[in-house]
Amino acid sequence: MKELTVTVQRFDPDKDKEPRSQTYTVKVNDGARVLNVLHAIHDTIDPTLSYRYSCASGQCGSCAVLVNGEPVLACMEEAKDNSTIAPLNLPVKKDLVTDLVPRLATMAHLVPKGTPVVPTKEDIDAIKPLRDCIECLACVSVCPAVDVTQFLGPTAMRQEMRLALDPRDSGDRIADAVRDGLFTCTSCQACWKVCPKDIEIPGKAIEKLRSQANKRGFTFPRHLEVAAMVKETGRSVTREKPTFLEQVGEVIEPYGPVKATVGFFVGCMYNNRLPQTALDAMEVLKRNGIRIIIPHDQICCGSPLIRTGQISFLDEIKQKNIDVFQSRGIDTVLTMCAGCGTTLKNDYPKDKPFTVIDINELLTKYGIEPPAKLPVKVTYHDPCHLLRGQGVREQPRQLIRQVADLVEMPSICCGSGGGVKSGLPEEAAALGKRRDAEIKKTGAELVITSCPFCEFHIAASTDKPVRNITTVLLEGYREKDTKSALKH
Ligand code: SF4
Ligand code: SF4
Repeated sequence: MKELTVTVQRFDPDKDKEPRSQTYTVKVNDGARVLNVLHAIHDTIDPTLSYRYSCASGQCGSCAVLVNGEPVLACMEEAKDNSTIAPLNLPVKKDLVTDLVPRLATMAHLVPKGTPVVPTKEDIDAIKPLRDCIECLACVSVCPAVDVTQFLGPTAMRQEMRLALDPRDSGDRIADAVRDGLFTCTSCQACWKVCPKDIEIPGKAIEKLRSQANKRGFTFPRHLEVAAMVKETGRSVTREKPTFLEQVGEVIEPYGPVKATVGFFVGCMYNNRLPQTALDAMEVLKRNGIRIIIPHDQICCGSPLIRTGQISFLDEIKQKNIDVFQSRGIDTVLTMCAGCGTTLKNDYPKDKPFTVIDINELLTKYGIEPPAKLPVKVTYHDPCHLLRGQGVREQPRQLIRQVADLVEMPSICCGSGGGVKSGLPEEAAALGKRRDAEIKKTGAELVITSCPFCEFHIAASTDKPVRNITTVLLEGYREKDTKSALKH
């Protein structure tokens, strides 16, 4: 047995105006789950505590709650000392019990065709990755698009795609999904990461529905323009100044001994809109022993096409980029755009002839020369495509702590992804406002991030300066050089 102290969010609509926190200490067996802790509080301290459960074995989805802010199944999550337990981000009926009915009522059901149809093995295999939902609504609870639009939510889209694949169903699932907010999804991947059944909703449902919607003529005109630009110019954004590739040679040698050689994939935003940021990154790499090969014939990675469902010439784009790096004998491709990184890592063929590494991973892998510490309090915005798309969380924090004091804020989507900024600017602005509110709570003077789309969008959403992580490291090196010059 062990003793655990937890804080539970309580709310009784008959007595409380606001939710309140209550702390309990209970005795539970070693290895107890959060549900065991709730049972212990209920049975030994306060029988009025309300929470929902049924199977207690991860199969029914009824006990989903937030533990330390993250949605989990209470019956599966190991109970830890000093945790907070709160209801999902859904309307609360009492304590930890949320009202699931309105959301579940919107889920589509199979509408049988007039004549019976028997699904083939191929049909069943295609449906399989989408059919394991236990209706816990953890995904809905974390979806940023649900918060600011009328989007029915991730699992509703999962169900639309599941039915679209079912030959027995007679509904028009594509039109329904478009009506229910298909294009409001920002591709943040939060729904997939919290799903207890590991259902890959963004890739297996939303992008697939969007690609079907594209064939049916539902794609937004702005997204069609982006695809036309990629086809015509190889880039997804217009150029505003000399591009990055116009300002660098094919090989950049480091100042000191070579620790590693990588090929650099610049991406459309850093090449065409933010070339100085990419040039800053090159300086940081040179200073830290990285030899950089930059093929000038590289093009857009295809991410804007994949996320908006416009995949008719995607394979040609992928092959072109693969050939460009393979022809230089490059075995490691470096990205500094979170969107390009997740696309090259996860959407390109698994057997591509190179591995892909994000710049934060590279710099922490080989270690960096310590920069001077800047007298500034900073906060860090996790780009969704870096945190959830590539699992890169600690590395940027390790780098930032060497150059400034870091104050954490919640890892929420800024609203720039999934074609939302170009297609639904009001939604992007609403999510940007939410991001700004969290920035303000930290009291930070500077926002650091590691994705050009986030940098651009957050800069438009906050009055705080926003910088790329490598630009701040470079400032730290310049400060160090200035101090050292003054000493001599
Ligand atoms: S990827 Fe993000 S925005 Fe899209 S459905 Fe999932 S949680 Fe919502
Ligand atoms: S998709 Fe996953 S997270 Fe969403 S309701 Fe179903 S099981 Fe829960």
